[in-house]
Parts: sequence; C-alpha cells; structure tokens
Amino acid sequence: MSTLFLDLNSFFASVEQQLVPSLRGKPLGIIPNDCGSTCCIAASYEAKHFGVKTGCGVREAHERCPGIVLIASRPDEYIKMHHKILEAVDTIYPAEGVYSIDEMSFRLTGQDRDINRARDLAMQMKQAIRELAGETLRCSIGIAPNRVLAKTASNMMKPDGLVVIERNELPKRLLGLELTDFPGIGTGIENRLHRYGIRSVDQLCRASRPMLRKAWGSVLGETWWHWLRGDETDIPKTKKRSCGHQHVLAPDLRYKEQARAVAIRLLHKAAARMRWEGYWCTRITLDLKPPDAPSWHLDVKLEPCQDTVRLLWHLGQLWSKQPFEFIFCVSVTLGGLISNGNVEEPLFELDRKRTRLAHTMDTINRKQGHASIYYGSMHGVTDSAPRRIPFSSVPDLDLPDIA
Ligand SMILES: [Mg+2]
Repeated sequence: MSTLFLDLNSFFASVEQQLVPSLRGKPLGIIPNDCGSTCCIAASYEAKHFGVKTGCGVREAHERCPGIVLIASRPDEYIKMHHKILEAVDTIYPAEGVYSIDEMSFRLTGQDRDINRARDLAMQMKQAIRELAGETLRCSIGIAPNRVLAKTASNMMKPDGLVVIERNELPKRLLGLELTDFPGIGTGIENRLHRYGIRSVDQLCRASRPMLRKAWGSVLGETWWHWLRGDETDIPKTKKRSCGHQHVLAPDLRYKEQARAVAIRLLHKAAARMRWEGYWCTRITLDLKPPDAPSWHLDVKLEPCQDTVRLLWHLGQLWSKQPFEFIFCVSVTLGGLISNGNVEEPLFELDRKRTRLAHTMDTINRKQGHASIYYGSMHGVTDSAPRRIPFSSVPDLDLPDIA
C-alpha cells in the first residue's frame, strides 16, 4: 500500500448544499454563471440518480429530472472550500499532490503502509472533512500500491467510498472495469488499444510489455505494464529544485511587522514540507511585493540545511535588508534542494540536535494538527497562511495520464 487517493464526490453541488441547507437532499444542477451556456457543469447525487450528468443540456436535465433545481456556479466558494478541505486533511496527513480542485493524493510511508493503518487514516480524513469543511462534503478514497491504481480504486465506490486494492489481488480486482475506467485511458488510447486487439481489461493485463509500448506508442506503455502489476513506477519527474510558499496578505497583515511574522510562518511550512519530502536546502529566498512598487527579492546560499532555527536566522538577515513599510505579498522559497541520500549529517552536535528537534516538531504537528508547536515569533499568525495548492505539485498537473 503506498498511495491514498482522495476524490470529493459531486464537489460543486456538495458545496452548494453545504452553503444552502435548503438544497440538501434535492436534485441540483450547476450551470456556468455566464448566461449564454446551456449545460450542467456538475450535478448532485440526487440529480445523477435521474441520469443528469456533467455536460447534460438544461432542457434534457429538466426532462430527465422534472424537479431539478438549476443554479449558477460560484467558483470563489468552491476555491474557498478546496482550501478548507486541504486544511482538514492536512491535520491527518500531508498531501503529496493536488491534482484538481477536488482530487489529492497522499504517499504513505513507513508504518502507514500497513493496510489497517491506511484504512484508519482514510476514515480520519473523511471525518476531518466532515467536521472542518462540512457534513455534505463526502469523498471516495482509494488505497493501492501506486497512484494510478489508487485513483482507479477511488472511482470504484461512490459516494463516500473506501476501496483498497492489494497487490496480491491483481489483476483480479480490475477485471470488472472498462478500459476507460482507468485514469488516463480516454477514447484516443482506447482506440489505439483496440487496434492491437486489446478490448478488455483482462486483455490489457495479459498484454506483454513490448505490446503495450507499441500500443501507447511510447515508453509510457511499459510504465502501464508495471502499474497494472502494482509496481510503484512513477513517470520520471523533473527533479525537484525548490520548495516554497507564498501568501497574499489580508489588509490588516500588510504592516511590516505582521508581514514578517507571516514570512516566518511560510518558512516554517516550507521547511516542514522539505523535511517531509526528504530534502535539504542550500539557498533561501525572500520575495516581497509592496502595494505600489516593483517586487523585491534577496537570497543567500547556505550549507545543506534542514534546521528551522538556522533557516529562521538567515531569514532574519534577509528581512533586515528589506526596505518596505507596507507589503502586499510575501514568498519564502527554499532552493538548491539536495535529497537525503546525498547529504552528510551536520558536522556539529548542535546542528544535529536542532535538525532532530525540527523533525520532532514535524511529528508532533502531524499528530496533533498543524501548528500545535511553533516558534514564538509566529504567535498570533498561525492561521494567516492557510495551505494553498503547493507549487511543488504543479508539475504533476501536466501528467496527461493522471488527469
Ligand atoms: Mg470528484
């Protein structure tokens, strides 16, 4: 078990039902708020029950489901809820990738790969979402040896599903599916597979590696051969080079001192994320955008570092050179990342101790919810930098086969 994939059910419609209780339990279709359009971009489960789905024309929606309520979409509300959900699941486990407004994945490590532990985490995430985002927000979770199978599993039970696919159940558990049930197999790839005589999931699972390579027309076909067998083969990613966070400040945080506190919080988050992903940084960059002048940035090179205390000291040095009284946007980036295996332990006992301390704080914050423990200078600003879609996951959005 290495990946947990979480997919919100009927997300837009569920947000509306959360915000407008009178819509709960009712068939609901969401239409774009530019009036020219005439099709549903989302539907509640009650409407889906009548065969209304995404792309369904308004007239057809009324025919299939006479009582349907159609309302204009409110993208800002969906984005707000997306952030709430990220914060909710973040109290349980850090997300590895955020793929869209309603999908995210978690790479399970260590003991969390145990099947019972993984199920437990899934139930805790569902509960955290209900409690912190709202009771109408349900999700389907898939747990499997790799991300493609985990996403496939998340689609196998809706709504409010939890499906585990174990390696030793492969390919049996997949045989009831259609080819296009796999994320990344659309009609284009399906047609190619047909040309190679692959018309069922059974045939797909039996096909040889060279055959799949030919069918896909690229090495991706071989990767699929591995995925279907539960291997963790990832699409080779460009190497991670930096880890950072930025925050547009609310009006009352735009004074220099408040902005500094936010920068500290951002550093804390970026450092925790970097340690979690197993990297050390060799550069720290502070970017500031004042309301009425061009942006400003400054960076400093360091020895490989995971220690928040040392990073805070460097951030303090950078901050002392910044010229603004009012600041609109703050960003802190840890760059020049080196992975765990390529770094020697810090030479000095004090550095080693502080690095261990940082890891201990991470563990406590993961167990107790974020910002249970933090550095004193952040006091009062722990809520001012809510988790955003991490920039580090943006390259993942380009992966055509997990879209
Ligand atoms: Mg969804």
